[in-house]
Amino acid sequence: RAKANPAKRICFYEETMDQAVRERRKTMQELRDALARRQFSLHYQPQVDIGGGAITGYEVLLRWQHPERGAVPPSEFIPMAEETGLILPIGEWVLREACREAATWQQKHRVAVNLSAVQLVADLPRVVARALADSGLSADRLELEITETAMIRDPRRTTRLLEELKALGVSIAMDDFGTGYSSLSTLRAFPFDKIKLDRSFMAELEASPDARAIIRAVLALGESLNIHILAEGVETPAQLDFLRQEGCTEVQGYLFGQPAPMNQQRPTAASLTLAAG
Ligand code: C2E
Ligand code: MG
Ligand code: MG
Ligand code: MG
Repeated sequence: RAKANPAKRICFYEETMDQAVRERRKTMQELRDALARRQFSLHYQPQVDIGGGAITGYEVLLRWQHPERGAVPPSEFIPMAEETGLILPIGEWVLREACREAATWQQKHRVAVNLSAVQLVADLPRVVARALADSGLSADRLELEITETAMIRDPRRTTRLLEELKALGVSIAMDDFGTGYSSLSTLRAFPFDKIKLDRSFMAELEASPDARAIIRAVLALGESLNIHILAEGVETPAQLDFLRQEGCTEVQGYLFGQPAPMNQQRPTAASLTLAAG
C-alpha cells in the first residue's frame, strides 16, 4: 500500500522534519532569551584532596531552568549555544558570575570554569582579565577547563592564547582527558597545569583491567611530565581506594558531592571519612 502512494509518505516525512526543525528553532530562540530572563544558574561540585579530604576547589556547572521543560541538561543546550555563537555571551556570563560568587566565599577555594572551543578567540584574555578585575578575585583562584579536542583546530594559535591566559595568573586544566585522539602530543605541546582524567575510565575501573592500566599509565605520565592529575567521576569507595593506591592526589565525583548551588553544599560521608583520616 505504501508503494502505491509514495508521495504521501514523503509528505509525512517532511512534516516530521518540519516539526523537528521548528522545535529546534524554538529552543534556540528560548536559549537566546534565557540570559535576559535569568534562567541560568551555577552549580558547584567540590574537588577534593585525597590526602586529608580538604576541598581544593569547585567546578562550575551551568544549569538552564526552562519555564516549561524544567532543567535542561548542558549536553543538550551547550552544543546549540556553540552552533549559534550564543556560547560567547553565555560563557562570559558564567565566567563573570563564577568570579563574582567565588570572591565572596569565606574560604579561598579555587573555582574552575569550563570553556567551549568557540570561546578560544583573541578576545578571551581581555574577557578573563575584566572578570577578574570587576570581581576582585585573585587570578590564582581561577582555573579554566578546556577539552583536548578544543586544542587541535589551530594548535599554534591556541598555544599563544593559553600562554596569554597563563600570563594573567590563571591556571589551565585539560578536561575529559583520554576521550580525544591527540592526547599525548597535546600534552607536550600545551602548557597545562592539570589533567582531568575522564570519568569513563572510573566507570570501567572495576570491571576492566585495561581501564586500570590506562589510569596507572596516566598517573605515571603526570608524574614524569610534572602535571597534576585529577580523577573525574569517582562514585565508589573501591574507585577511591584504587586511585589512592596508585598515587592519585585529587578527585571529583558524586562520592564527594553532586553539583549543587553554593549555599546547598554538604560534606558527604566519604568526604568526612577522608577528613577523619
Ligand atoms: P564536564 O566539564 O566534564 O563536567 C563534568 C560532568 O560530569 C558534569 O555533568 C557533572 O555533573 C558530571 N559528574 C560529576 N561527577 C560525576 C560522577 O561521579 N558520575 C557521573 N556519572 N557524572 C558526574 P553536567 O553538569 O551535565 O555537564 C556536562 C558537560 O557540559 C560538562 O562536562 C561540560 O563539558 C559542559 N558544561 C557544563 N557547564 C558548562 C559551562 O558553563 N560552559 C561550557 N562551555 N560547558 C559547560
Ligand atoms: Mg569540566
Ligand atoms: Mg570533564
Ligand atoms: Mg565532559
